[in-house]
Amino acid sequence: MTGLTLFSGAHVIDPANGIDAKLDVLVDGPVIANVAAGIAADDARVVDATGLLLLPGFVDLHAHLREPGFEQKGTIETETAAALRGGFTTICAMPNTDPAPDDASTVEALKGRIGRDAHVRVFPIGCITRERAGLSLAELSELADAGCVAFSDDGHPVTSPRLFRNALAISRSLGIPISEHSDDPALSAGGVAHEGRVSERLGLRGYPAAAEINAVARNIELAEATGARLHLAHLSCARSVALVADARARGLNITSEVTPSHLFLTEDAIAGPGREPAYDTNARINPPLRTEEDRKALLAGINDGTIDAIATDHAPHATEDKLCEFDHAAPGISCFETAAATILTLIDRGELDPAAAWAALTINPVRAFGLQHRVPGLGTLSVGAPADLVLLASSEAWTVDPARFVSRGRNTPLGGITLTGHVRAVMASGKLWEMGANDD
Ligand SMILES: [Zn+2]
Repeated sequence: MTGLTLFSGAHVIDPANGIDAKLDVLVDGPVIANVAAGIAADDARVVDATGLLLLPGFVDLHAHLREPGFEQKGTIETETAAALRGGFTTICAMPNTDPAPDDASTVEALKGRIGRDAHVRVFPIGCITRERAGLSLAELSELADAGCVAFSDDGHPVTSPRLFRNALAISRSLGIPISEHSDDPALSAGGVAHEGRVSERLGLRGYPAAAEINAVARNIELAEATGARLHLAHLSCARSVALVADARARGLNITSEVTPSHLFLTEDAIAGPGREPAYDTNARINPPLRTEEDRKALLAGINDGTIDAIATDHAPHATEDKLCEFDHAAPGISCFETAAATILTLIDRGELDPAAAWAALTINPVRAFGLQHRVPGLGTLSVGAPADLVLLASSEAWTVDPARFVSRGRNTPLGGITLTGHVRAVMASGKLWEMGANDD
């Protein structure tokens, strides 16, 4: 038995190498050995990939695994199993855990758990401030030495401009980006839904677009002043995209991401158009789902390259966190197991450009966090790159049933919705997981 696996006859898409053609892919143990037409490998296990898309495994810059501290919502084991099923072979774990990774010892403990339980590659993101409290900086150089790939207090913004400027200056010297949850709580405090037509109709406290736009503008200014690498998490507003486009046109080193949820849904999901209940707590997310105009601008941002990455903001919650009044529901969507299908559906509808979308799930996030310096070839199918890949049945329709999620979080507003496109198989570090047809 050799360690060779041959994927034959796939439609191979490797954005980093400009490949978009019907080819074979040969894997040797944990690495990619060859990508070419008509590869002969008599002693290889053969996987017939005819009719399937084959891409580098997806890379997620923004996921919440909940462990340690919130295991009733999810664990490293359950949530990385969900990631794998969704085609994600590398994920970056946000630090809103308890304890939060704000010094070397908490990161070392987290890495121990990851080494024991994770089904995919997990990079830790360290805190910006101690206990994510926004009052004093975490041990940033310790966190960098311990292997954190970025700093973030995600869930909370760093409200003090002085503290945020100091964090940017230190992160620059360490060569690590800051991923900022851009929000001005003076405007958004208490807000549970985008301030607009739907929040007014349903009597929900509004979370205005200006809360994000103000913070994005501040953060860009401070990144320019310090020369730091700033990554803007989960953009939700058209104006935010315009500010990023302006900053990049001026040569600033700013990257950003958008979630599949904000690309696919609008504020109308809260009211569940035509569906009961009228208030769907599963559609509560921070930042909130916005207007159709915002959604269109986010799609355009991916299509023209202004926004680098599609990141899930996978946020599993326990049932009781959502079985309550809208105002009291925990914000967040369990996204790993629907992300690829929502992207394929948006491509099928002609709303997303496939080349841009696939780059935003593979090589672009790698470059945004400099992950190619940690794992050479990550996010590509280059020879010698890790054998991380995903096989997709792009036209297979299925209906989302959260009861069948592997994630402990069943919190999705997509339950009962039919999507086009399905993850058929995933290889992570050379290990193959086949989902089978219609195994939804
Ligand atoms: Zn966030």
